[in-house]
Amino acid sequence: MASVRVEDTTYFLRQFHWHTPSEHWKDGENFPMELHLVHQSEEGEFLVIGAFVLPGEVNDELDKFWTRLDDDLGEEEGSAFVGSFQLKHLIPTVGDIKTLRYSGSFTTPPCTEEVNWVVMNDPIELSSEQIEAFQELFLEEEEFPAGNTRPIQPLNGLTVEKSFRR
Ligand SMILES: [Zn+2]
Repeated sequence: MASVRVEDTTYFLRQFHWHTPSEHWKDGENFPMELHLVHQSEEGEFLVIGAFVLPGEVNDELDKFWTRLDDDLGEEEGSAFVGSFQLKHLIPTVGDIKTLRYSGSFTTPPCTEEVNWVVMNDPIELSSEQIEAFQELFLEEEEFPAGNTRPIQPLNGLTVEKSFRR
């Protein structure tokens, strides 16, 4: 099982999903998409790793199921069985990873649960076609015509910690 260790706690990957446009903003700008990897510790504590997405290289690993986004995926709406998926092709897992951290909540209602957020400073890349394929899912959604992103929230005195110096 995929896991991540942050400040002496091990969090296990529960699921990952995407938002368009990005939910976090950086230096006053948002990105076309954002990846969320939702983790939970054995004690039940949540940690979400967020990564901004910029148009660039195609991600072949993702195309294992990205090409089926439009399919009727059966019983559980929106889920598909993917034989194997290598997370390391999605986000960098080694090296000097710059992150922004804060303690917040989930971005989907009721938005109450406490969550440790770790947002990667450097964006990952998907091809423009891959980004557009995801954005197209929302074009005809009456409930979310502009995507599946919670509007940006005021910081209300929240502190964001950087793991690096500029
Ligand atoms: Zn999310």
